[in-house]
Amino acid sequence: MTNDPSLESPIRIGVLTSGGDAQGMNAAVRAVVRTAISRGAEVYAIFEGYQGMIDGGEGIRRFEWDDVAGILGRGGTVIGTFRSKEFRTREGRLKAARNLLERGIDRLVVIGGDGSLTGLDTFRQEWPGLLAELVASGQVDAGLVAAHERLIIAGLVGSIDNDLVGVDSTIGADTALHRILEAIDAISSTAASHQRSFVLEVMGRHCGYLALAAAIAGGCDYVLIPELPPTEGWEDEMCATLRAGRARGRRDSIVVLAEGATDQQGNRISSDYVRGVIEERLGEDTRVTILGHVQRGGTPSAYDRWASTWLGYEAVDEVLTASPDAEAKVIGILGNGVVRIPLMRAVKDTQRVPELIRSGDYSAAMQARGPSFTELVTTFSELSHPASFTAPAEGKRIAIVHAGGLAPGMNNAARAAVRLGVSRGYHMLGVMNGFAGLRKGNVTELGWDDVEGWTGTGGAELGLRRAVPAMEDLYKISRAMEDHAIDGLMVIGGWNAYQAAYLMHTERDRYPAFQIPIVAVPASIDNNLPGTELSIGSDTALNVNVSAIDMVKMSGAATTRCFVVETMGRYCGFLALMSGLAGGAERIYLNEEGVALGDLAADVEWLRGSFEKGRRLFLAVRNEKASESYTTEFIGQLLEGASNGDYDVRTSIIGHIQQGGEPTPSDRLLATRMVSRALGQLDEELRAGSDNSWYVGLQQAQIVTSPMGHMLDHVSTRRRRPKQQWWMQLRPVVRAVAEEPGA
Ligand code: ATP
Repeated sequence: MTNDPSLESPIRIGVLTSGGDAQGMNAAVRAVVRTAISRGAEVYAIFEGYQGMIDGGEGIRRFEWDDVAGILGRGGTVIGTFRSKEFRTREGRLKAARNLLERGIDRLVVIGGDGSLTGLDTFRQEWPGLLAELVASGQVDAGLVAAHERLIIAGLVGSIDNDLVGVDSTIGADTALHRILEAIDAISSTAASHQRSFVLEVMGRHCGYLALAAAIAGGCDYVLIPELPPTEGWEDEMCATLRAGRARGRRDSIVVLAEGATDQQGNRISSDYVRGVIEERLGEDTRVTILGHVQRGGTPSAYDRWASTWLGYEAVDEVLTASPDAEAKVIGILGNGVVRIPLMRAVKDTQRVPELIRSGDYSAAMQARGPSFTELVTTFSELSHPASFTAPAEGKRIAIVHAGGLAPGMNNAARAAVRLGVSRGYHMLGVMNGFAGLRKGNVTELGWDDVEGWTGTGGAELGLRRAVPAMEDLYKISRAMEDHAIDGLMVIGGWNAYQAAYLMHTERDRYPAFQIPIVAVPASIDNNLPGTELSIGSDTALNVNVSAIDMVKMSGAATTRCFVVETMGRYCGFLALMSGLAGGAERIYLNEEGVALGDLAADVEWLRGSFEKGRRLFLAVRNEKASESYTTEFIGQLLEGASNGDYDVRTSIIGHIQQGGEPTPSDRLLATRMVSRALGQLDEELRAGSDNSWYVGLQQAQIVTSPMGHMLDHVSTRRRRPKQQWWMQLRPVVRAVAEEPGA
């Protein structure tokens, strides 16, 4: 018989990871633990999945703030995961209920796959019955049960496959894509050296997301996924595609295969079979690489850190605020927002997809995956099987120009623009060196093959210039546009690119050459452009920052040290806030909020106390224009001055490496999707003979366009940023995981 330890006790939340591990699970666990503590609850880590709950004892441990220190950047899950057979039985769940009850835990956050969430829902449904049984058998006191009549739960999906229906991304999928792209980039160079073909097998038993996204982002030749089994004779089609690529001078050929790929009869297509087909029919030396568990390994990407942190924060909110009778929820990311969807509906929809595939209803399987997935399929098919490799003589002429600062992914955007444009019947013209180049008439037609190899490289092959054209340049620019008979313009770049596009649009009455459709595509590490939640390059810069922060932190691991890291972004705090969230910063200084001397003084005071209590590391991230007066150096000196020798201080300005780096998978995909939409818009305008201009954006997972004429309504021109910035809603999340109450 157990006495009631929970009378007047605080709310107690349990957290566990179950099923396959995924990078980002640690970030979620950390956020659950810290948010719970910030909200005044006690939190218990349950080790080895559901098994820890059944075993009790050391399997369920109270966690304090520091128990999750230093885990944000670690792969896997520090609290262990397990596939507990016992939890599938009622006896197992009875033991689990007793162990939770004894500790007064009646709220659970579970991070796992659809199986884990099914088990969680069963447990919740059974909870009152399990409790009644425990009372009836005299194992627990009825008074204890009365205090915990209901189990309140929240599910987060950890799955590198990205297979949960109803959300855009699951914990671990972005990092897995990073690992795959690292492999593709490495394989491309060796394949190209020997003119070899490679078959790359990636994870995804029932979901082709990883294979499909990797094939687009890696510029691969052919892809096989479970949702779209190839039709009979696909081997001929695949070989024809590879042969055509070789004939056009492609030196490396890569076929990406999801591990669950089958033919239309449901027979598994093995990577070895694909290799055999290529070797036999094309006579090519072909190698197989099965990536396997590498995809689950390594440090989580910036996205998997900040998104999982956000999800962990929301999961605690859910278990603290949900009514016990409300339907249980799974919490996921849709677009760049958090959604709470009925847990069992999400699980059932997810589990239905393999059934649809098995029954041969592929269109329903595709529909279940959602519009973004279908869009990826269409885009890959257009890139790998273009309607044409050359534009017809009468095709209209679209010029591409980069402007503003450099953003990783510009090459992907230009490559996709050229290939999709040519396939859609346009002559694609590359302007060299931005508007300065356009002024000089530095324009060349780019064919399908001219952009070969532009997928994995940073920089901008077309060159770019920062400057917005001056009024006196417009005449020469308009002349050059007439000389090159430009019918439509795609401007890819940052703030200055948008200014230039806007200027040309508003000056079109004076310059007939500007009476053409213009579409601006956002590419800026600052992520400060209107009409879009993300711009091309910002995810890469974020990943560069997070790696830099990881290294900076490691450099201080052997001592007691304070770091003040400065990020780019001009007046936009996106990079600072998200780098701080993903890098585990204690303080973040943004221009959006300003920096007050009083706040700095309070921070210094807090810091001194915190080091006195044993802190070894402190990290502040400051946006480069957070404050005119309180520079990074100033903040460093302020902290140093208060140190009393308890810690030393280092400042680190990350600088231009933020604009370098190979584009991340996410930036490559975004570039391709945005450019495809931009071409679609240009196509509409050209067909209508109009000179409307637009800018492209990502909004709630969709690629949309907004009219250029209204651009100024949505931005602060003085601060060079949009008036509404979605990521500012993450501010409370940063506070919850960074500021230990009472510390
Ligand atoms: P992954 O997608 O990585 O395989 P998953 O959560 O789907 O993750 P499963 O092996 O299906 O992985 O489930 C993990 C654990 O969740 C199981 O070992 C079991 O403890 C519990 N579980 C799964 N399904 C159920 C169920 N129907 N009833 C009770 N518990 C279950």
